[in-house]
Amino acid sequence: MLYNRSMDNKMLEGAIKVLKKFEEEQYEAYIVGGFVRDYLLDMDAYDIDITTNCLPDEIERIFPDSFVQSTKYRTVTVSMDGYRYEVTTYRSDRKYSDHRHPETKVTKTLKQDVRRRDFTINALCLDSDLNVIDYNNGLVDLKKKIIRTVGSPIRRLSEDALRIFRAFRFASRLDFEIDKDTMNAIRINIPLLKYISKERVRTELTKTLGEPHFKKVLPTMLDAGLFKVYPDILEAAKVLNRNYIQVDLIELITIASYIKGSVTDEILLSRKEIKQINQTIEYIKIFESRTLSKKSLLDVSMECIESAMKIMNVFHNSIYTLDEVNDLLKEMPISSSKELDINGFDIKKAFKLEDSPLIKKYLDMALDVVVGGYCQNKKTKITKYLKENRIDE
Ligand code: ATP
Ligand code: MG
Repeated sequence: MLYNRSMDNKMLEGAIKVLKKFEEEQYEAYIVGGFVRDYLLDMDAYDIDITTNCLPDEIERIFPDSFVQSTKYRTVTVSMDGYRYEVTTYRSDRKYSDHRHPETKVTKTLKQDVRRRDFTINALCLDSDLNVIDYNNGLVDLKKKIIRTVGSPIRRLSEDALRIFRAFRFASRLDFEIDKDTMNAIRINIPLLKYISKERVRTELTKTLGEPHFKKVLPTMLDAGLFKVYPDILEAAKVLNRNYIQVDLIELITIASYIKGSVTDEILLSRKEIKQINQTIEYIKIFESRTLSKKSLLDVSMECIESAMKIMNVFHNSIYTLDEVNDLLKEMPISSSKELDINGFDIKKAFKLEDSPLIKKYLDMALDVVVGGYCQNKKTKITKYLKENRIDE
């Protein structure tokens, strides 16, 4: 749910009630992380995370309609006034043996908890009176607009290489600079990105592409060698950097796949997305070869056409305008091959054919003439036309 500073602060009020309830029960609790950062920057935020020295079982006792979100990370979702808050017990994360999954341990103090957090600006807390608690000079960095790891950058980025992506994401979102030492550590740790799951990379990349300052940060990302681990995406990012347009993840992957000549597997994609990417590439090819025809627009997905046109711009190659495509579409007697008034069975009967490649050829011919406007979309008319234009076996 959106927290909007200028409109209402019900979400924050609810969180404060949660903190106070913990305090009544003699526990500590603070708002922590992204919300505090966005609140201090006067930006909208989407969720509020709370950290406490209370253990999950106790949290569930204090808030009866709460439920455990993650046993491993000791996160419980607590409801208050219709809002939901993720409450996590103070913990420290250590021994990232695979650069991915930390072993987590409950800790006693807030100070220890915030040490596990990635960047100083994400390690700030608010108490129930909205006082800021800052153990890692996050306020200075917030003011200077700097992204800096909490503790040694080399160690913190090698523990979890996804933080490299996160650094660029926050830079793209907030228009912040990445601190020099953190940047050096990024360069050194880039090879570790190969340990990060495709799902996590996908999530981060999707968010980063949508951030308002991504264009400005992209050259830094390339310069740091971020995409070295993803050679196909690297090519797409280079093209984008030369001739920038805002793209979403699927469009970026389409560019990468188009350059590669087949759909890249560097990101996890659903079957539907792979189909969409292939279709968009097909249209790019049609546009490039200037072979746009009514038939090529049969069964069209406007989303793919629009993506294809957008992507053509990246390659300085826009040939058709959307208006031209729409004009052609308007002129088409049918817009889907399913609307054709004749099917394979009819053709089989009309030409007394067994299973033969000719059936498909006649169907193609039927589509051509109907879409082209040479024959009305009526079974009798089409059959007549086909009979007059028999195909030799
Ligand atoms: P967003 O606005 O995108 O949600 P956020 O800062 O809230 O930004 P989350 O991914 O929601 O980011 O994480 C919440 C908090 O958890 C962060 O602010 C940070 O303190 C901590 N955190 C998240 N991911 C990591 C990580 N990979 N390493 C260390 N700390 C992390
Ligand atoms: Mg968050």
